[in-house]
Amino acid sequence: MNSEMKQISILGSTGSIGVSTLQIVRDFPDRFDVVSLTAGKNITLLAEQIRQFRPAMVAVVDADDAERLSTMLDTDERPQILSGVQGLIDCACAPDVSMVVAAIVGAAGLRPTLAAIEAGKDIALANKETLVTAGSLVIDAVARSGVKLLPVDSEHSAIFQSLEGQQHKDVRRLILTASGGPFRETSLAAMEQVTPADALAHPNWDMGRKISIDSATMMNKGLEVIEARWLFDLPVHNIAVHIHPESIIHSMVEFQDGALIAQMGVPDMQTPIAYALSWPDRLPLPLEPLDLCRVGSLNFFQPDPVKFPCLDLAYQAGERGGTAPAIMNAANEVAVDAFLEGSIGFLQISRLIEAVLEQCSVSPVTSISQVIDADRVGRSTAQEFIDGGLA
Ligand code: NAD
Ligand code: MG
Repeated sequence: MNSEMKQISILGSTGSIGVSTLQIVRDFPDRFDVVSLTAGKNITLLAEQIRQFRPAMVAVVDADDAERLSTMLDTDERPQILSGVQGLIDCACAPDVSMVVAAIVGAAGLRPTLAAIEAGKDIALANKETLVTAGSLVIDAVARSGVKLLPVDSEHSAIFQSLEGQQHKDVRRLILTASGGPFRETSLAAMEQVTPADALAHPNWDMGRKISIDSATMMNKGLEVIEARWLFDLPVHNIAVHIHPESIIHSMVEFQDGALIAQMGVPDMQTPIAYALSWPDRLPLPLEPLDLCRVGSLNFFQPDPVKFPCLDLAYQAGERGGTAPAIMNAANEVAVDAFLEGSIGFLQISRLIEAVLEQCSVSPVTSISQVIDADRVGRSTAQEFIDGGLA
């Protein structure tokens, strides 16, 4: 085997990030070998991925899906098929795995990602909810096991790249860029009426449904502020957000001497995914180069706090710390699902999260079970508000 060959596990291989990661594996067969894959419900796509990438192990959420998947595969192509949270953990922690791509959506990604860290696996982290809900525990676990935690989120990859060769003490501020989503120019009155289809139509990025709605409310940027707080060890009030509709500058770092270092590129997740997979090497990706002359101009604005209250809610939860971000994240996951199902309106998403944060008590985080409890309470409180028609 090639000594540079990296043995990887992809948690959430059937999602937007998972599929882009496998595209990179396909393009660089000498660099990456897939040991295990996991998926939620899309076993048809998982079966195709198994035939193509021949992992030794896979896991799905439900035992019934594991059985159905088994019958879809011939004996010679069938890997070990597991299910449930333990199945996800076993796939992530398989002895051969050296890097886990954490690309499950939502707080469901926390336990397998934390288990992988504790098992000594390097992490390419897409699942921002892991750091939002349990940042202090995850960062402590990373330090204890001495693994690398490499960001996949494009903003955090940009900051990570801008910080290379720099010293933490010299950093004054991080500036996260945001496209502003599909409703950047929509009036508040019109936002009351928008449909899931309107909200899913992101102008610059092609992503999974949950993060697309988060981008439309700007909760995505709020989650990213908290993610950056843990990845780069800066307080949330030193992390700013600029709207940048072109999505060319992926984020920047401001230093004490006034210098600003940014990372630019076409908006394609292959760049940050590949960098996390191959760091410190850069892979020759088959992407169109960025033509700045064609882009012409780059624009920046302050976000509108009245149209996008989720951003402030996330700053407040990030400042408050403890279980507040986990409660907020849980309420957001329930609110996004309810909006996608048509049971609440778009502007009710932030109202619901605010109501849940007011109702739930916040405590310090010292164990994973506290985070899981906070997540459960945040979800059930949000559901009670929806059922009571109070959102
Ligand atoms: P997605 O919805 O397209 O895919 C999610 C994956 O997780 C799928 O494989 C799905 O089957 C699996 N999954 C869903 N629920 C699960 C559960 N309960 N248990 C186990 N597996 C489950 O999502 P995505 O857009 O690929 O995003 C994945 C993560 O990456 C999110 O945390 C998102 O915020 C982050 N992220 C995504 C992008 C992007 O461009 N898509 C960019 C930056 C960060
Ligand atoms: Mg991002």
